[in-house]
Amino acid sequence: MPHTSPSTRSVHSLLLVSDLDGTLLDHHDYSYAAALPALRRLQSLRIPLVLASSKTFEELLEYNRRLENPHPLIAENGALVAIPEGYFPDQLPGRQEQGYCLLSPAIGIAQIRRVLSSLRAEGFEFRAFGDMDVDEIRSHTGLNTASARLASYRRASEPLLWRGEGERKTDFIDALRMRGLRVLQGGRFLHVLGPSDKASALALLRRRFGYPRVVALGDSPNDLELLRAADHPVVVRRPDGSHFAKIGDTALYTQGVGPLGWNEAIQGLLDTLVE
Ligand SMILES: [Mg+2]
Repeated sequence: MPHTSPSTRSVHSLLLVSDLDGTLLDHHDYSYAAALPALRRLQSLRIPLVLASSKTFEELLEYNRRLENPHPLIAENGALVAIPEGYFPDQLPGRQEQGYCLLSPAIGIAQIRRVLSSLRAEGFEFRAFGDMDVDEIRSHTGLNTASARLASYRRASEPLLWRGEGERKTDFIDALRMRGLRVLQGGRFLHVLGPSDKASALALLRRRFGYPRVVALGDSPNDLELLRAADHPVVVRRPDGSHFAKIGDTALYTQGVGPLGWNEAIQGLLDTLVE
């Protein structure tokens, strides 16, 4: 892998971790075209870009292929980390799939679904990805059939639509917590997962990369821990003009929305940090 060449070691002291939807990808059309100049610059500097998303490994793999990005992936909101085979010198424990080693999640999807069915038996009402066929996932997400199929390949987190009374939702979240699970609010979906998050996945990778400085980019509450864990947090502007949170004085708040803001922030950071 390209991480050991002495001539390029200095730039590898930087690691980029980015959310996808609303951050690198446009909120409406999922395009990253506006970020291409910065993406190309990162590639020519050989700075690793780790995609970190609520998406599944298979969905992220599609983006890594399209971007010709050979770096690790943080899938399912941090519950799953995938590392290209041979990327780090030592052997990693986990399952080999499609050229990646998938590190075993703390709590797998089968266990999450068992807990959910026991809660359903207690009267909580929801509809989870595990209850849906691909057509139903497509209708709830707006994805095309092929992408909806990739989104259905959950390994370590379960998105669900709450169907009960509003006040029962808090009881439901508490009941999951008591069983060792946590809940992240996505756009329309609640995501049920184990104790990991994007920040714990980053901590694991940061150690492997030899403690580089980390630039992290995100646009939503599920990016908050990731941004707080970064040396250079970038809060990407949303289509309504807002930034979802104040992270502190060190954070960058982009002028541009989505990938346009991504491009602006990375170009500016590379100007000051690398060249
Ligand atoms: Mg997002």
